[in-house]
Amino acid sequence: MHHKRYCEGIERHQKVYFIIDLFRISMKSLYSLQIYIEVYAMGKILVVGAAGQIGTELVLALEKEYGKSNVIASDVKPLPTEALKESTYISLDIMDEVGLRKVVENNDIKEVYLLAALLSATAEKNPAFAWKLNMEGLFNVLNLAKDKVIDKIFWPSSIAVFGPTTPKDNTPQQTVMEPSTVYGISKQAGEQWCNYYHQNFGVDVRSIRYPGLISYTSLPGGGTTDYAVDIFYHAKKTNNYTCFLNADTALPMMYMEDAIRATIQLMKAPSSDIKIRTAYNLAGISFTPEDLAKSIELRQPGFGMKYASDFRQAIADSWPNSIDDQDARNDWGWEIRFDLNKMVHVMLDNIDPSLMD
Ligand code: NAD
Repeated sequence: MHHKRYCEGIERHQKVYFIIDLFRISMKSLYSLQIYIEVYAMGKILVVGAAGQIGTELVLALEKEYGKSNVIASDVKPLPTEALKESTYISLDIMDEVGLRKVVENNDIKEVYLLAALLSATAEKNPAFAWKLNMEGLFNVLNLAKDKVIDKIFWPSSIAVFGPTTPKDNTPQQTVMEPSTVYGISKQAGEQWCNYYHQNFGVDVRSIRYPGLISYTSLPGGGTTDYAVDIFYHAKKTNNYTCFLNADTALPMMYMEDAIRATIQLMKAPSSDIKIRTAYNLAGISFTPEDLAKSIELRQPGFGMKYASDFRQAIADSWPNSIDDQDARNDWGWEIRFDLNKMVHVMLDNIDPSLMD
């Protein structure tokens, strides 16, 4: 009698576990189905400038989110990292308007992430070409959305939209903007064009003013904040670094994983939540070269830092020290995860100095 009741108890338990498992599996399948339906309704994603510092990581993150077959990477250069060897790649020059339209139409592209641009330091060396690439590329993509060929655009802006007359600390979303670099001028104009296309043609374009981005999977592309990446290669190789900015130059920075998460979060948010159609301020970690050197020294005793500033110092001096990102927090729930020490640990653990050779 006792034994029978005991066995029935076990059976009842097993049934409950079976029902819980069934429920879990159904929820998982429902979630996958929901993603499948979302992606199917959405069409495919094209990343332009996919071989760069952001693109190499964004492509992988988008593939993880939407499936490998729904993401197409494109650039004028081949994809540089091993991790991208199975990604779909198309060689494409963003200034080739006809070629771009063909790629988009032939592949059922509905979202474009436009990363191709000349960055701040490189742009100063070739202002006319920087203006041409940064603006023409943007117009080519905006016009595809205006003509309803694509539904949604991500285009990154930068803290370079701010200038020497901008309040430097906790720089507000809306403030004086008189950029002093050709890069900043192109990003500021780009922001206004995005807003204009949204207001006048209903184009769903979304943007972030990225701070300096720090990552280890590929080399940075010629920006003023590149020292904060270069330093890790040299720290690993020689335990020394000569910085091209002065010790006390505070700049807004962010670890790449945070930037990628912000980008995908912004693109997934309902259109009605996106109140700003120029570009969102996004604060990460604000630090000086000296702060960074001290944090590296905690992990690598004896790390030596020298300073020899060059033309990039003037660019850095025109940019904010730190950023107020309340609007991004309120509108689409942005929050930072990596602080200075956490970022330094991940960088030192993962950086491969042979990438520099
Ligand atoms: P990057 O220089 O590393 O990559 C840009 C990529 O664009 C390169 O792979 C390049 O080959 C490609 N490209 C250049 N001309 C092209 C063309 N005509 N057609 C197609 N592709 C072309 O730059 P990144 O750091 O990845 O930056 C991407 C975007 O984010 C840029 O708009 C940049 O202004 C912005 N941004 C970057 C940072 C940062 O710290 N990395 C900060 C603020 C804003």
